[in-house]
Amino acid sequence: MADCDVLIVGAGPVGLLTALTLAQAGAKVIVIEGNDTPNDSPRAAAYFATSLIVFEELGILDELDALGIRVNLFGHHVPEYDFHARISTECMKGITYDYQVHVGQHILCNVVIDRLRKIGMPVLFGHRLNGLHDDGGLVRATIATEEGDQRIDARWVVGADGARSSVRRLAGIAWDGFTWDNHFIATNVYCDMASLGYQQANFICDPVSGGVVAQLDAEGLWRLTYSEDAWLTPDTYRDRLPTRYRGFIPKGMKYEIAMSSPYALHQRCSETLRKGHILLAGDAGHTTNPCGGLGLTSGMWTGVVLADLLGAVLKGDEEVAILDRWSDERRRIFLDIVNPGAIRNKVMMEERDPEQRRRDMEGVASLVDDPDKARLMMLFPFRVIGDPLRKGSRWAGADPTVAAGIGLAERHSQLA
Ligand SMILES: Cc1cc2nc3c(=O)[nH]c(=O)nc-3n(C[C@H](O)[C@H](O)[C@H](O)COP(=O)(O)OP(=O)(O)OC[C@H]3O[C@@H](n4cnc5c(N)ncnc54)[C@H](O)[C@@H]3O)c2cc1C
Repeated sequence: MADCDVLIVGAGPVGLLTALTLAQAGAKVIVIEGNDTPNDSPRAAAYFATSLIVFEELGILDELDALGIRVNLFGHHVPEYDFHARISTECMKGITYDYQVHVGQHILCNVVIDRLRKIGMPVLFGHRLNGLHDDGGLVRATIATEEGDQRIDARWVVGADGARSSVRRLAGIAWDGFTWDNHFIATNVYCDMASLGYQQANFICDPVSGGVVAQLDAEGLWRLTYSEDAWLTPDTYRDRLPTRYRGFIPKGMKYEIAMSSPYALHQRCSETLRKGHILLAGDAGHTTNPCGGLGLTSGMWTGVVLADLLGAVLKGDEEVAILDRWSDERRRIFLDIVNPGAIRNKVMMEERDPEQRRRDMEGVASLVDDPDKARLMMLFPFRVIGDPLRKGSRWAGADPTVAAGIGLAERHSQLA
């Protein structure tokens, strides 16, 4: 007999949002997490209107809105050319939320954990998956805990265990794509960045000091992320950090680093998101560099659309084969939209060719002058919603750009 309908491996944002959606559909869910606490390393912090739609539908938007900050100005800077553009999210008014919310992804995780526990769904920390066997009827999971190995038998397993997914490895699913030679350093820092001309969210294009700067809270915490060349060892990034910070914060200005971490950058997609009763969602299924904030934005939709379909399969309302169509559709969204879009963003941030840099600046300047174009930029993340695949889906009609008759197909990234 199964211990649960669905075992979710990984209490990151995608595993938890998938679990909450499934639980709200009546499924019995268990979430296991290898670490003892939610991972609070500096990662996703920006939630576009596309994500706010998910939060509202799941009933957590008001809480996140109160815990985070509303952001409505986006800055694009090319310091070498003294180019500073400012684009407002106001152009989305009347179509969807005319702001985005910034809040650390660990805060989102804590909110969802609380909701799951309140409805009796266990979230088990210190439980690390180390074995999986799909016998066609049940998936038998072996889990390492402080008290020794435990077993959980589930009808379905969702691997939401991040880019280095054990579920993907244990299921023997290939992770196709490439890993960039260079790496990113993400830092959370207390500093008066607004006084330096930064907006609440900023893209800084420069072949040496390119990066992302974003406000994280109302208490003075900001995110500063920059890239390091391939030949530098990520392990020693702290030695170089004060020098690299000079590219963003003038010498002598006070700052205090709260947290920092190096990240490898991948453009990879699993060859399938379904093998038997094992499914992959979030970074475990498809992983991108974070320029443009499309990783969690697309990963959560992969998870919540799956949760709707799996809930229907568990109730006998849909055939299991719909999950293969989901795998194809989510891989299409990643390979045709997210992957090329995020690559464009990263290439633009690091561009060296003066001619291309000039063209990029002209493109951004045209967004400032033309609210219709700015709207397409702001609405681009709606392309990650894709097809919810069934008529009665909780997510059918979620994309407001369809009702507004706005075609996004010609838009290939936020900025180009
Ligand atoms: C610097 C940076 C900034 C980013 N900013 C943004 C942004 O603004 N917007 C955006 O959309 N995306 C952003 N991203 C991407 C985003 O952080 C990821 O897409 C997101 O974390 C993916 O969530 P996940 O739940 O799939 O995986 P994860 O967050 O990686 O969670 C996976 C969880 O699984 C657990 N786990 C792993 N193995 C096991 C096991 N064997 N057993 C049990 N548990 C296990 C891990 O401990 C972890 O808690 C950013 C990424 C970086 C690096």
